[in-house]
Amino acid sequence: MASDPRRVVLSVDLDEWYHCRWATGSPRSRWKDTASFFRDHYGSDRPAGELVEPTRRVLSLFARRGVRATFFILGEVATHYPELVREIDEAGHEVGSHGYHHVDIDLLGPDGFRAELARGREVIAQVLGRPPVGYRAPNLLLRDFMIPVLRENGFRYDASVCTSRSLLGKNFGHDHVARNPYRFRERFSRPDPQGDLVEIPIPTVPVLRLPAATGILTRVAGVGWTMWGLRDALKTGDAQYYFHPYEVGPRPPLALSWRERLFLRRLGPWMEGAVERIVTRLQEAGVRFVTAGELAEAV
Ligand SMILES: [Zn+2]
Repeated sequence: MASDPRRVVLSVDLDEWYHCRWATGSPRSRWKDTASFFRDHYGSDRPAGELVEPTRRVLSLFARRGVRATFFILGEVATHYPELVREIDEAGHEVGSHGYHHVDIDLLGPDGFRAELARGREVIAQVLGRPPVGYRAPNLLLRDFMIPVLRENGFRYDASVCTSRSLLGKNFGHDHVARNPYRFRERFSRPDPQGDLVEIPIPTVPVLRLPAATGILTRVAGVGWTMWGLRDALKTGDAQYYFHPYEVGPRPPLALSWRERLFLRRLGPWMEGAVERIVTRLQEAGVRFVTAGELAEAV
């Protein structure tokens, strides 16, 4: 490793398993939206609180390892769990926005995005008394038309770009994008050292250019796969790893297809142990954990 310590952002998307694309928010989802899922699954107009315990496990893990992270929180989640948002903030972590509803950008369109972004930002601003400056798009789907809207809403950085080729029908197609954090202005895939916005990408494995530094790939392909991508990215700059609290929680009580079972493989204690191993190995390698906001200021 270089003499200058590399920085790694640990980030957490605060949404629930039913925000996955197979469940809600995409054209192929089982439920049209979360409102119909709540009615069908909980017989209620709100979730049942399964998110709280796994999120607290994640907070304990971070406290145990002495690291601070960035939580990209869905507005819908902040509305249902404002106390949890305050707990995260009070533990010293950064709170960013993950939009309001967990819906594919191509379903929302430009006007829908504008409304969702403002609403998601507002709910966090109300809960914490200050607005978020970082954004992660639901399902990591970023489009150039979103950039001026992010800027208008006071966002300083984005952390949505996985530098992967397309995988399992998910249109990343960003294998040409720079893999270490960089500044940009109009187009998120075109670095501009004078740009006013920062992109903090999610690393892939070398050559194959498939996602590496995500909880889903850690569970599907193993800690070694994730570390391969992270170590490769760290050769040239700073990096990021992200996962979800639902990944350290119990498997949802549903009949699942093979693809859903693969996607939800090794939830619970296995994943909690895996995240701790990744954090520990990176600490042993001498990296410094910073929040995404701190990294964006330093790029
Ligand atoms: Zn998400």
